[in-house]
Amino acid sequence: MSSTARDYYQVLGLSRTASPDDIKKAFRRLARQYHPDLHSGPSKLEMERKFKEVSEAYEVLSDPEKRKQYDQRESMWTRTESYTTAESRTKPSEQGFASARTSHPHQSPPYQSHGRGWPRSGGLADFFESIFGEPDESSAQPGTKEPGEDVETTVEISLRDVYWGVTKRLSLLEPVSCPACHGTGSVRRRRCQACSGTGFRPESKVLDVKIPAGIEEGAKMRIPGRGRPSLHGGKRGDLYLFIKTKPGHTFRRAGSDLHVTLPIWPWEAALGTEVLVPTLTEPVRVKIPSGSTAESKLRLKGKGLPTGTGGYGDLLLTLQIVMPQTISNEARALYEQLARENHADPRTELLAKAHQD
Ligand SMILES: [Zn+2]
Repeated sequence: MSSTARDYYQVLGLSRTASPDDIKKAFRRLARQYHPDLHSGPSKLEMERKFKEVSEAYEVLSDPEKRKQYDQRESMWTRTESYTTAESRTKPSEQGFASARTSHPHQSPPYQSHGRGWPRSGGLADFFESIFGEPDESSAQPGTKEPGEDVETTVEISLRDVYWGVTKRLSLLEPVSCPACHGTGSVRRRRCQACSGTGFRPESKVLDVKIPAGIEEGAKMRIPGRGRPSLHGGKRGDLYLFIKTKPGHTFRRAGSDLHVTLPIWPWEAALGTEVLVPTLTEPVRVKIPSGSTAESKLRLKGKGLPTGTGGYGDLLLTLQIVMPQTISNEARALYEQLARENHADPRTELLAKAHQD
């Protein structure tokens, strides 16, 4: 926990656009809440830790210059976009889905801190030394160089992407040696202004990632060595892609099964029929049995998503009995004829059981 990167805004419960006044108020409120003098017993240590965290966040965010540097540093490595590449489709015959650009840079922070610390813990002086100061060679022991932080980003894919597999082009920031200081972090013995002494700066690069067909909802793909750079000469962190399936208009995903609500007319339910049903590929003909009831399910074997083990899930149809918007005189006459027939009351059981509740 102590080495996890902290978002100073999050620590103070503020948004990035918080005013200096908001920052002051949040700090006062939290400092009062966590002040170690106000706590005893087992919670004292935890309160001390929280108080330190809040104080550290306040010290940075309340100073306009430090806040600016912190914001720059945080935004530097935290941008990614993804697009579907045009050549990614394995089945060119499949139509109806363009290689739509699916960038989503304005959603929740695309990179979330995940893992080893940047900034690392150890107090404010240490923090500024590691972030803004000269690279600290003396503290780095061989073999124990602190690696860069892992980053995590969400990649949204469509159900068709899950069906066929897809290549997503990620646009990410990659560390390149700072040209102003040639990667040394200092210019004429002073901290390099261009890179704040880190020795590198972010440059936009693209990375094509092949997402296999049948990938599970919520799957995490690890791309080694494409996370944040280490500030201590260690290895770069890893990039994790969190796979999220965009909800479809027609199909709902449940594992490798797909669900569709299928509307049918009352006479189709009564008499049975054969109808065209959509699948992720081409529509298929399906027999609706006579006497079908609303909400009943039909299972189409193998018409779902790939399972990842060579098979396919099923497509489940839930019948929905719909009425025409208007009714003709002829139809009305037919319904009236039906109504005159001697039917049992379908509510008999309902009425009988009602007082047992
Ligand atoms: Zn530099």
